[in-house]
Amino acid sequence: MKRSKKILIVCHCLLNANAKVYPLAACSGVYRDVLDNHIESGVGLFQLPCPETGYLGLNRWGMTREQYDHPRFREYCREILTPCLHQLTAFVQAGYQIDGVIGMDDSPNCGVTRTCSGFCGGEISAPGNVARQQQALAMVAGRGVFMEIFAAMLADAGINVQFRAIAENLESTESVERRSE
Ligand code: SF4
Repeated sequence: MKRSKKILIVCHCLLNANAKVYPLAACSGVYRDVLDNHIESGVGLFQLPCPETGYLGLNRWGMTREQYDHPRFREYCREILTPCLHQLTAFVQAGYQIDGVIGMDDSPNCGVTRTCSGFCGGEISAPGNVARQQQALAMVAGRGVFMEIFAAMLADAGINVQFRAIAENLESTESVERRSE
């Protein structure tokens, strides 16, 4: 049997940078410098859906955690994660090993150790509002909305995995993996 029976869960844009908000893609398609070693080790890659592209499409602005943190968006995350949980549960029941999750730090959704905060509200064209939004923006410790929900769903399913992430603001594809406790 050739299969490793090992699975690494990755956020969508690690395998498809085209999903990212303009101009945040740090590579043309696949973050190979992040994933090549994992691929060489023999893991299978389980690609999560991109909640932002599915919910708002590709013409979305970069937004903060506060803007995504509302009941309908949370419900949407649970909807798109439910089939993922079904598949992951099937793998675990069949004796496969989940090698962890790699998210995207600084994302309001896929951040693992750090997420994007600071919405101050109002009409973007109002005088001074762009500057106020920029001043309010901060990267803060904590999970993004989507990863928070995913972690809770994994826990409910009795699947214990370690979360780690690369940083979203990398200008090259040089990457670091940061682990959450
Ligand atoms: S970090 Fe998450 S929400 Fe943002 S583009 Fe990647 S998969 Fe989509």
